[in-house]
Amino acid sequence: MDNLFKEAFEKIKESNNIVLISHINPDGDALGSSLSMYPVLKRMGKKVTIFNATKPLPEYLDFLPNFNKVTDKLPKNFDLMISFDCGSFDRLGIEKKTAFLINFDHHISNTEYGDINIIDPNAASTSQVVYNFCKSNGIDIDKESATCMYTALITDTGSFQYESVNDKVFEMAADMVRCGVEPAYVSKMLFQRDRLSRLRLLAKAYETIEMCCDGRVAFVEVTREMMEITGAIKEDTDTIVNSVRAIAPVEIAAMLREDEDGIKISLRSKNYADVSKIAVKYGGGGHIRAAGATLKGEFDFSKVKEMLKKDFQNLLKGDK
Ligand code: 5GP
Ligand code: MN
Repeated sequence: MDNLFKEAFEKIKESNNIVLISHINPDGDALGSSLSMYPVLKRMGKKVTIFNATKPLPEYLDFLPNFNKVTDKLPKNFDLMISFDCGSFDRLGIEKKTAFLINFDHHISNTEYGDINIIDPNAASTSQVVYNFCKSNGIDIDKESATCMYTALITDTGSFQYESVNDKVFEMAADMVRCGVEPAYVSKMLFQRDRLSRLRLLAKAYETIEMCCDGRVAFVEVTREMMEITGAIKEDTDTIVNSVRAIAPVEIAAMLREDEDGIKISLRSKNYADVSKIAVKYGGGGHIRAAGATLKGEFDFSKVKEMLKKDFQNLLKGDK
């Protein structure tokens, strides 16, 4: 990894006009890790564009330093792109690669679409990969960068609850606090600014929970009608599937959401099932415990449920 870190840093040093890019429908790690590099590159005197193709961006992340600098317009000329938390090229939201590309990620399913690919599937967040990159190259991390890295770490570990959490994660968190992060402030920004529309949507979605496979699988549905009635927006659906996984016997939880272009599936597992395999089968990707895909042009919930039920049965076969 150290060699890759060095190679990437050399490339950054020799570039002048840099685009930071994170995946469409960004989460805390995607935006947090890309924003964390902004102060670093500005200090190096670079011209920096923070790009994300999604509009509007999730409101709950608006406290991240330099959030208001994120744009959905690419500059005319640039000589380097750095992508963050993006497992495949199609999720960058750009048509084609027009510059050298450094790919920072931690998805096991990353397709290595960059010229330099810095992928660590053992990292709890992409921000941890960026943190290791900074440490390895002796790059100073200021309060703004640290706040972004820490937020990314919190959101991608479910507040330090997932299996990815180990001594290195807590060491990074401690270092972030030494760099100026105020944990209570970040937690308040993330978890104490809920939207009423989201709670109303939860109430409707929970009514649709369906259990199968001896209670080891649970499905939950979000339709466009539910979204319209409650006034909820896409980001309001983000954690529904996590709460469904929390039901005692559940090993796999699946959310089906009716989108404009098809049914989006969000998969979660608790202890042993590798749901990334199923997401990849449907053209998506992700991690062992959290993965997703969009079934483009498909709008039949019960058909998709039946398909997934079979996939889950196969995946759970032999496990008790
Ligand atoms: P979520 O279910 O919250 O949308 O996503 C869970 C994980 O799966 C995230 O790490 C996300 O990046 C990944 N993921 C979700 N949807 C897709 C998809 O359509 N393609 C790929 N490659 N990854 C996805
Ligand atoms: Mn991530």
